This record gives sequence, structure tokens and C-alpha cells, in this order.
Amino acid sequence: MPKYPMIDTHTHFDAPTFDHDRLVQAQKAYQRGVRHLVLVGYLQTHFERLYTCQQALSATPLQDVSDNKEQVPKAHIALGLHPFYIDQHTKAHLSDMECRLNAKRPLAIGEIGLDTYTDAMKAPDMFAKQKQFFKAQLDMAVAHQLPVMLHIRKAHAEALAILKAHSYDAHKLGGIAHSFSGGEQEAKAFVKLGFRLGVTGQVSNPNAKKLRRAIVAAVETYGTRCLVIETDCPDMLPIMCQQAQEDLPASGQSPDDEWQGVSAHNRNVPANLPWVLLSLSELLDVTPEVLAQQLWQNSCMALKTSWTYPTNESL
Ligand SMILES: [Zn+2]
Repeated sequence: MPKYPMIDTHTHFDAPTFDHDRLVQAQKAYQRGVRHLVLVGYLQTHFERLYTCQQALSATPLQDVSDNKEQVPKAHIALGLHPFYIDQHTKAHLSDMECRLNAKRPLAIGEIGLDTYTDAMKAPDMFAKQKQFFKAQLDMAVAHQLPVMLHIRKAHAEALAILKAHSYDAHKLGGIAHSFSGGEQEAKAFVKLGFRLGVTGQVSNPNAKKLRRAIVAAVETYGTRCLVIETDCPDMLPIMCQQAQEDLPASGQSPDDEWQGVSAHNRNVPANLPWVLLSLSELLDVTPEVLAQQLWQNSCMALKTSWTYPTNESL
């Protein structure tokens, strides 16, 4: 597979399902072109895990630069309280986040937003709490001038209404609508507000017609500058990897609550990011070379960074 420099803008690479082979997986990702990855927060009780994971990856030996085998992507942290776990969040968690933001500036705030996937989450009190936490974290993003990573599921209209009324300006601060799942109009509405759409391995599924149409429609209006890519690992395994990995033994199953269903053979990894790039390249009929460079630039704009695009020599 040819190699292109990439940024994995959304991962849960700190999840326990990677504890037994995180370093190997990080090296594999680097070998396939992944140069930066973002560890995205979702529960206050797991914030420390993000720092532990980041430290473990930065402690990797880099003595022999000519030998890429030892190298791993640079890991960055986003801190946020995820709407899906709204029943577990407390005011104290928001205060803890505020303290952490003051102590050490993360790359971004996330993932935050609204999610009414289950009936329980549609309950008025739960949804009201989601909105309250979403707005409080948008306030923090404005106060600290940080980009946000949005998680919006089955609540696009409500999320757009909040964003339009809020002083958070994505044109200025950046931001990503992670694992975008809405329709054409919603895709364009988020881009119009200044967000970039996060594309996962779902784009590789020919049956994901609504998603593929939404991406194409947004690109027709705004160009490929409105997109970034992500694995969202250990979720969102690209379809080609589902088949390729079927024969592997199911070792390393996560004991953690949120990824109980993710066994080793359907676990997504950062090294699968090239599949997202290639599927998107095919869908949009843009060469992977051109697209990779554009996506790199888009990620830097969305995350307000200026990471240098590696040249072919350093790949
Ligand atoms: Zn996520």
C-alpha cells in the first residue's frame, strides 16, 4: 500500500482494549503514515488515562531516526464530557475539567454535544442536562480559545440551534463535527458554521448511502477543505478490515464497560486510517496524494495547529 502522511483526528487509543499491544499498534500506524493522533476524552474518570497513554507513547525510543520501525505518531489530548454518558457527569467533573484546562492547555475540548440515540437519552431531564453540559463546555472553549470536537447523534437540529446562538465561532476557533452522521443539509449547515466534518471508516461501506451522499454534497458546495479523517478506534472498523481480520483469534477483549462488544477481531486501530483515506479518495474521485495533503491542511486548520506535512523522503 502506498504511504501518505495522515492525522487521526479522533481516537480512543487510551481504551483498555489496546493495553496489551498499544506500542505495536502505534508503530504500525506510524509505518502506514499516521503522524499525529488525538486522544479524545469522554468521562472524567478516564481523563488520567489520556495522559498516561500520551506519556507512554512519547516515551518510545527514537534513537535511530533512519529506522521508522521504532517510531510512533505524536499523541495529543482533547478533554471533554461526552453526551452519551450524561447520567455519569456531575458539576464537579466540569470544575475538574476547568482546573485541568488551567493547569495544562489541551489540543481541544471534546467530545461534547448532544445524543438522543436511546429512549433514555430522549427523556426531557436527560436531554436538558445534555444541553446544559454542552453549553458549559462551549463556554470553556471560548474562555480558553480552544477548538471543539462535536459528537452529535440524532440531535442535529438542536445542536445547530445551540451553536448558532452561542458565541463559539468555529470560523475563528476551528472545530470538528466528529463521525458526522447527518444528512446533506445538516452537513452543509455545520460547514457553514465553520466546522469540518470528521469522516470515519463508515465511508467505506457502500450501504452507508445517506452518509456518502452528505459528504459528496458538502464537497460539491465547499470543496474538500471541509473534511478531516479519523478512525474513532476502537469503533468504526472499515468494511475491508472486517473481512480481512475475521480469521484472527479474539484475544485482548476489553473488560471496560463501553467497548464490551469490541473483541480483537472487530477492534479498529489507528493503522486502519489509510482505508478511510482511500475510500474517500474513491468516493470523491480525488487522488489519494492530493487528498492526503488537503486533509492534513484541513486538520491543522480545524485543530489550530501548524504541523509540518512530511515530505516523501521522511516517510
Ligand atoms: Zn469518540
